[in-house]
Amino acid sequence: MLQPSIRLSSTKLTSLTFKEICPTWSNKLKADLDKDDLHTLIRKPEMCVVGEAWGHTSRYLGYKVVYLIPFIGCFKCIKYGNKIGKTAKQHNGLCKSYLLPIIDDFVDHWNENHQEITLKKKEKKNAAKLNKVNQEINIA
Ligand SMILES: [Zn+2]
Repeated sequence: MLQPSIRLSSTKLTSLTFKEICPTWSNKLKADLDKDDLHTLIRKPEMCVVGEAWGHTSRYLGYKVVYLIPFIGCFKCIKYGNKIGKTAKQHNGLCKSYLLPIIDDFVDHWNENHQEITLKKKEKKNAAKLNKVNQEINIA
């Protein structure tokens, strides 16, 4: 008897939330953004929402910085980063309500294309925790 085929590739096992992808910015956006936060969003793409998702590197800016290795960067992420920067610059202290829909889009994009980066980060964190526990057990 034939089993119905399971479409693994098109079924997402998990859908990450903004909080899981960018814990720092998710916290910041719960309150009002201060001047430093706005400055970061506008001036430091490697530290902004998109940058945090990528692990605080500007690696996603590969396209912009290193034209020779475009495959390292993600053009869409660059666009989101730019859009977030522009929106922060345009609306300043009031930018939060304008940023949230962009971030929603970004989270969708992230889940579709880069989810494994966050999952790997989590794995590493868990492994580090486990190591620490093991060490503590060994010491005791
Ligand atoms: Zn991307």
